[in-house]
Amino acid sequence: MSNLDRSPVPSVCGGRGFVVAEPVRELLSPRRLTLGGSTEVRRLLPNLGRRMIGAWAFVDHYGPDDIADEPGMQVPPHPHMGLQTVSWLHEGEVLHRDSTGSLQTIRPRELGLMTSGRAISHSEESPRAHARLLHGAQLWVALPDAHRHTDPRFEHHADLPTVEAPGLTATVLLGDLDGSTSPGTAYTPIVGADLALARGADVRLPLLPDFEYGVLSMSGEVHVDGVPVLPGSLLYLGCGRTELPLRAESDAGLMLLGGEPFEEELVMWWNFVGRTQAEIEQAREDWTKGNRFGEVTGYDGSPLRAPELPSVPLKPRGRVR
Ligand code: MN
Repeated sequence: MSNLDRSPVPSVCGGRGFVVAEPVRELLSPRRLTLGGSTEVRRLLPNLGRRMIGAWAFVDHYGPDDIADEPGMQVPPHPHMGLQTVSWLHEGEVLHRDSTGSLQTIRPRELGLMTSGRAISHSEESPRAHARLLHGAQLWVALPDAHRHTDPRFEHHADLPTVEAPGLTATVLLGDLDGSTSPGTAYTPIVGADLALARGADVRLPLLPDFEYGVLSMSGEVHVDGVPVLPGSLLYLGCGRTELPLRAESDAGLMLLGGEPFEEELVMWWNFVGRTQAEIEQAREDWTKGNRFGEVTGYDGSPLRAPELPSVPLKPRGRVR
């Protein structure tokens, strides 16, 4: 998905100064953004008080939306650099096209993983014939300096490993959870897992103390480390945990996001992750001139135009809280 914000604010993130070394319970509220019609996304990262969780640098939650009589998701071709995109669905389907020639329908609990490397462009749309409901999350993972100029590629993994406990099925979509490893290519120590909880579940999920973690609620009533987390909210958990208590009052769907704190400082703007303002300016110019990012074929519509860059230069921000 593209950053739908028409006047995106640059965000400087990464680095140890942003990481909370001990367990905390910081409830993050979403910022609501609309793309015309009825499509609304709830942005959890970057957030006013928190920009990254490990290498996870962007989290949008959308739906469930009834799109039976609507076109649904229609995100025209747009560029990315310096990141991976993760498409994760609970309901519906998304048709992915990209400049490496990929054409892939992504269905619930299948991983759509796009590594932009130095440059890629893609589109995402609801297929013409689609399910009534659309519900999912779009996430970005920052690439470390050693891999951010890699070749662009797209992976689709329909068969992902799971970790089971009474009342819990955890599907490992990226990285590693309790010894189960996703087939998706990861470039930093990371975990992304879908947690399907049955009503009445009361479990403890094993965690790594040197990772920082957060939990996104997508549906249901759930307590995460004793904190009620409503759908569309994200609880930041800090580092220093060996387990996470989860209790479900109803069937519930969560995403666990974690990773080793991301040491490198980043500059994020629109759909780009770089290290300097000059890189971001160059990427914007290249996209505008039709250079570098390739071409998406088959999408019925014009590519997205890059928003204007703000005139204020990017300045690193200090420690969060
Ligand atoms: Mn995108």
